[in-house]
Amino acid sequence: MNPFSNLGIRHDIVNAISELGFENPTPIQEQSIPVLLTGSNDFVGLAQTGTGKTAAFGLPLLELLDFEENHPQALVLCPTRELCLQITNDLKNYAKNMRNVNVVAVYGGASISDQLRTIKRGVQIVVATPGRMLDIINRKAIDFSAVQYVVLDEADEMLNMGFQEDIDSILSTTPDEKKTWLFSATMPSEVRRIAKKYMDNPFELTMGEKNTGNANIEHEYYVVRARDKYAAFKRIVDFNPEIFGIVFCRTKIETQEIAESLIKDGYNADSLHGDLSQQQRDKVMKRYRERSLQLLIATDVAARGIDVNDVTHVINYSLPDEIENYTHRSGRTARAGKTGVSIAIINSKELGKIRQIERVIGKKFIKAEIPTGFDVCEKQLFALVHKVHNVEVNEQQIEQYIPRIMAEFADLSKEDVIKRFASLEFNSFLEYYKNAPDLNAPADDRFGKERGEGGEKFARTGVRGDFTRLFINLGSVDGFSRGDLLGYICNTTKISGRTVGKIDVKGVYSFFEVPHDEVEKVQSGFKSADFQGREVRIEIAGEGVSERRDGGNRGGERRSYGGNSGGGFRRDGGNRDRDNGNRGERNFYNGDKRDGGNSGGGFRDFSGKRKEDRGERRRRF
Ligand code: AMP
Repeated sequence: MNPFSNLGIRHDIVNAISELGFENPTPIQEQSIPVLLTGSNDFVGLAQTGTGKTAAFGLPLLELLDFEENHPQALVLCPTRELCLQITNDLKNYAKNMRNVNVVAVYGGASISDQLRTIKRGVQIVVATPGRMLDIINRKAIDFSAVQYVVLDEADEMLNMGFQEDIDSILSTTPDEKKTWLFSATMPSEVRRIAKKYMDNPFELTMGEKNTGNANIEHEYYVVRARDKYAAFKRIVDFNPEIFGIVFCRTKIETQEIAESLIKDGYNADSLHGDLSQQQRDKVMKRYRERSLQLLIATDVAARGIDVNDVTHVINYSLPDEIENYTHRSGRTARAGKTGVSIAIINSKELGKIRQIERVIGKKFIKAEIPTGFDVCEKQLFALVHKVHNVEVNEQQIEQYIPRIMAEFADLSKEDVIKRFASLEFNSFLEYYKNAPDLNAPADDRFGKERGEGGEKFARTGVRGDFTRLFINLGSVDGFSRGDLLGYICNTTKISGRTVGKIDVKGVYSFFEVPHDEVEKVQSGFKSADFQGREVRIEIAGEGVSERRDGGNRGGERRSYGGNSGGGFRRDGGNRDRDNGNRGERNFYNGDKRDGGNSGGGFRDFSGKRKEDRGERRRRF
């Protein structure tokens, strides 16, 4: 039996949601549906977006209303047009096997006469944004005297957007006996106040800790100098070839500038902000949903109500002014049980803000390092290898060329062919990134301010303050994220996760910090360890690790780990600051997707007008 039936949902609805892929209720559905189905409680649900809350209130509404009657019985208020359309659409999908279910979406920026006409024909459920709803009420075009249920969805967002008075006016037209169900991602005092004002001894449900972000989100921050922010941001994006992200800026101007620069630099990006017409916003959102955009650059207000699944990264290009907004931003990733990363790119003065956010979300940020140019090359190379491995071959089309291709490669071994093919791209990456500067804020800026003394010492010896930095010959190509590596280290060595300091997962290796007195335990714990048949190597960073791990072929170009003590990229960064240069032709492997018309792969000639472009960018950011 489908578990939704056990919760008390009728057969035809269960069939419809099964088709949507709802096999098991999400935690909020499991806990709220039985309560709401009684129809006799006010309800407060503290839940993030993406937890399945639409069905949590939508399914009980479909069970409780009388669809033989054709007047408004339920009103759902939500902050944005996007969310309004989404909820309406979801309800219609859940009800697709039911008869006589009429739902109307009432929102601004669209023809009011169509909405009035639908209302006149008769509806049982009204899903609305407050402004337009009030407009319709003021025209006396709707009768809420028989409303039994009011849902306030994303209540905190509605209050943030200044809808308090509108909500008061709207609710005053509904009967006192109605039941009110409130959902909110956070519970600031204003939301508490409306809960108190409109509800009578509500049933309260908290998914996770109060005001806590989704447990599936990993929070990271990078410390960079203000002038390197844009370049650092691009490096992070380049290091994540499969990124499908939302980038938050503080102002419309910043949003537009970043988007324009990214487009110019060959990325698939566009902006979403309040100065766009509704039509333009819809167009951008359509492209993002369809994934022809990889990066959506948005302001907080414009991004409200965006509920695209599978967002891999939220990037805080600028931290929000209001800390609460960080929760809303990061909640755009890790939806529907998936995992996601929320990244903040900050300068050293903003560390205090990170600590404040940590207190609000009840979770620690991981301090991350901007990848080196070489790290990016390595990551992109393996992304390419992976892509080639998984590419779908059109046997029919390719067949006719195979004899000629084989003849071309007749004098080469399989290994040679692979090497050449990989080098085709890899050589251009190396060329592109060969003098890429270290973009992490200098050690004295970061370590000094953050953890007291010891930054310089650490750079040379692997010993900083109370921590020793250790090298391990496992990394992202072995499938490790920071969290995985932490788990692996703790399981293998039996040291506590809390004692482990910073973890830097690189491509084929990683670094992690442990207190000095734990070093021996870690080393002996890993003594006989192997990973998938490979010996696991642990070394103290700074004891010749860098030369060896790079296998000799990259040592010269790579910045020395953990520090900026003059070597590596920084040396020649001055004359070839490529990350700041014009990257109109940047193209990794996704030429077709990323910059339409600029396909052909690889990095091409970046010389040209690099200097002027850098000047421009510097002025702007
Ligand atoms: P919501 O929080 O209501 O916006 O839901 C987030 C996403 O999760 C939507 O794409 C839903 O279709 C999906 N979803 C909701 N409930 C379930 C479920 N029980 N099983 C699978 N997916 C679900």
